[in-house]
Amino acid sequence: MDYKKLADLLYPNTKSVDYYFDKYKDRKVNGEVTRIAPSPTGYLHVGQLYQGVIHRMLANKTDGLFYCRLEDTDGKREVENAGQIAYDMLCRFGLTPDEGYRGDNLEEIGDYGPYVQSQRVDIYRSFAHELVSRGRAFPCFCSVTNGKEEILKRREEELENADDLEVKDPCRDLSLEEIEKNLNEGKSFALRLKSIGEKDKTYKFVDAIKGEKEVRENLRDDVLIKSNGIPVYAFAHIVDDMLMKTTTVIRGQEWYQSLPVHIELAHAFGYTPFKYAHTPNICVLDEETGNKRKISKRKDAFADVRFFLRKGYPTTAVVEYILNLLNSDFEIWRKNNPTLHYSEFPFAISKMGVTNPMFDFVKLNDISKTIISRYTAEEVYNNLLAWAKEWSVEDVKTIEDNKDTLLKVLTIDRGGERPRKDITYFSEILDIYNYVLPNFEADFEINLGNVKKENLINFLTEYKDSYEEVIDNQTWFNDLKEKSLKYNFVDNKTYKQNPELYAGNVADTSKFVRLAITGKENSPELYSIMKIVGIDEVRKRIEKLIKILEKSRNI
Ligand code: GLU
Repeated sequence: MDYKKLADLLYPNTKSVDYYFDKYKDRKVNGEVTRIAPSPTGYLHVGQLYQGVIHRMLANKTDGLFYCRLEDTDGKREVENAGQIAYDMLCRFGLTPDEGYRGDNLEEIGDYGPYVQSQRVDIYRSFAHELVSRGRAFPCFCSVTNGKEEILKRREEELENADDLEVKDPCRDLSLEEIEKNLNEGKSFALRLKSIGEKDKTYKFVDAIKGEKEVRENLRDDVLIKSNGIPVYAFAHIVDDMLMKTTTVIRGQEWYQSLPVHIELAHAFGYTPFKYAHTPNICVLDEETGNKRKISKRKDAFADVRFFLRKGYPTTAVVEYILNLLNSDFEIWRKNNPTLHYSEFPFAISKMGVTNPMFDFVKLNDISKTIISRYTAEEVYNNLLAWAKEWSVEDVKTIEDNKDTLLKVLTIDRGGERPRKDITYFSEILDIYNYVLPNFEADFEINLGNVKKENLINFLTEYKDSYEEVIDNQTWFNDLKEKSLKYNFVDNKTYKQNPELYAGNVADTSKFVRLAITGKENSPELYSIMKIVGIDEVRKRIEKLIKILEKSRNI
């Protein structure tokens, strides 16, 4: 067979691949060249964010480069604006690529473009031409299997006949004349790989995460370019990563099983395959079955990374949590280096485990609380405002109108050695501190415990009537204690000696005052909150509690 002639028939008027190899010179980068290759399917998956952290960190650590390529070849699944969203999300989480696709409105950066696959059709044609002239690909004129059912049925048969690995397409043996005849009749064709793998042979290679591996050679004549001229993932991956000089292809575990095709294809072009790193899948416990399963877009709201922004997690918290999943020594490093930026962490792909990690919100929340506890009050306020402007516009006015008050309450217990860790994400701040906002009405749940109601009412009444702002916490506390003792709220020691005196202890009195003022059992330092709320409001709120106590029989 005259393969060159066949190539010219199938792909006339293409540039030679040497043109492209000449155009895309070797990079002058010492370190790893990594890439993220989102398909525009409507959102950035948390698994892609997880990989994005690996790409970004590996490129940083090795003085390399991280670029973005948009894989928009699957027109059917495409969602409007989705490439833009994926790119924006990477940037929002601090993983901005150095090169490549930058959304639909900004020009791409870099000398290895175009970085959008739908704009690379000419390049794919040239490489298809090359493969055919090397005798390593052939046109297939069989009708397309469109229906999902048809595909599933065929797979089932392949599995049952145990020949799922070996798929030699009947069109691989068509003569040049037959092909020419089909083309003249206007028949469309898909391009298939002419596989030359052998049944008992394997490829050995090192996966940067899995270690030394051996996989069976490829025996399948897989489709490389569909009849509409659009390449499938395998073909585009090899051509693009080859021309864009990727050094390590880091991608999800789901691609591992098609690796033999990718290796064969790279060899067919005379190219030494890239290094690969197949990442484990982040999992969750399924609420219904109790089993570990992959994150699902349908079941898990956080599969779409916008979930974290909507909640108002600091993006660094999410990235640090991911680092924690990637390298188990991150936590110790963070403890020893509480103030360094996470990018200083000595990340290494070799420290990654192979087991699928579980996504643990408790851990994420803990990291997030710690990060927010280290912010200044201004930083928390600014983040809250920015969050509301994006996700909760109806709160913006409240936040702006109460700036001073919010700053005051956010300042309490902040800045010291052990800052208060009560905020997990920005969207909960207005709820946590609702008691400093205007028109607050506490919603009580009162549990008196051993405290005698009458004593409590008497105490609260005197406390309310005599309350005035004092300059320091100690004076405030002494006053509270003095009045408590007057109404038989005693300390534990006295109680032990004289149980009949018991009406509660001093901690109880502050508990009820706190409840009256904040509606909550926990809050930052009460003394400061009462100062922020002001005398009139303090009296009003205590009065309200007294009324409730007086009215209720059951409490
Ligand atoms: N477009 C592919 C995806 O979104 C990229 C896989 C890869 O990183 O090679 O899954």
